[in-house]
Amino acid sequence: MTQHHKHIESKITLLGAGPGDPDLLTLKGVKALQAADVVLYDALTNEALLEHAPKEAIKVYVGKRSGEHSHSQDAINRLMIDYALNYGHVVRLKGGDPFVFGRGYEELDFAASYSIPVSVIPGISSSIGVPGLQQIPVTHRGLSESFWVITGTTTSGQISEDIYQAAQSNATVVILMGLKQLPKIAEIFKAAGKSQLPAAVVQNGSTETEKLVVSTIENIVAKVQEEKVEAPALLIFGEVVSLHPSFKSVIAQYATIS
Ligand code: SAH
Repeated sequence: MTQHHKHIESKITLLGAGPGDPDLLTLKGVKALQAADVVLYDALTNEALLEHAPKEAIKVYVGKRSGEHSHSQDAINRLMIDYALNYGHVVRLKGGDPFVFGRGYEELDFAASYSIPVSVIPGISSSIGVPGLQQIPVTHRGLSESFWVITGTTTSGQISEDIYQAAQSNATVVILMGLKQLPKIAEIFKAAGKSQLPAAVVQNGSTETEKLVVSTIENIVAKVQEEKVEAPALLIFGEVVSLHPSFKSVIAQYATIS
């Protein structure tokens, strides 16, 4: 640094980008991007959002698409600090909401250890927003009194114990990062006597490549294979899925078979 170096005010904004559609960013998020010196963005954030940032702002992709190991969490943490110290305002743009399986708190904690101020702007989480866009409510009077959002892929690679418990409950169960584990998860629900429970899988919710599959737990695996559903996708298990118009055709289909 030279003596003429201007004073840099380092700060970090953890910003939730929403589920994919760039118009689902909050107004506060737009304002933060407009005031960014650097934007660090993930695989699941829409690149159209970068247009809110000034032309001269530095934009860095730090995605961790599954199978790639290009950016470890440690590397992202360090980059975020380096940019904040050298350039000022870093907007850390993360898919959905930063604190729903987003490792947002790890980044907040790391920044705090350097005494860099962090602010948080929540985003629309795919866990609620993607079912909602399909007009599937996560709660509904008389049908569902609560909802669980669970990961299908835990750090240890095991199925989360919470899925076994959720399968016993009447809650709406939304599972993120669970597409690969769907056969195993469906078995857990069947073992809990839920083979006729309505189930939906949504790929790329809120985007042009959105795909929806509606069935029962019993048939969801076959239907997802048939429709070639790909990640990112989320699973919705619960009576609320019966409110979706295409569930009625699922029922009609069984009526003719049996
Ligand atoms: N913080 C994010 C979730 C990160 S985990 C949020 O709040 O939405 C990433 C997982 O979220 C994906 O594997 C997928 O299960 C789910 N997901 C994210 N965006 C999605 C979308 N547009 N459609 C369907 N699932 C999505």
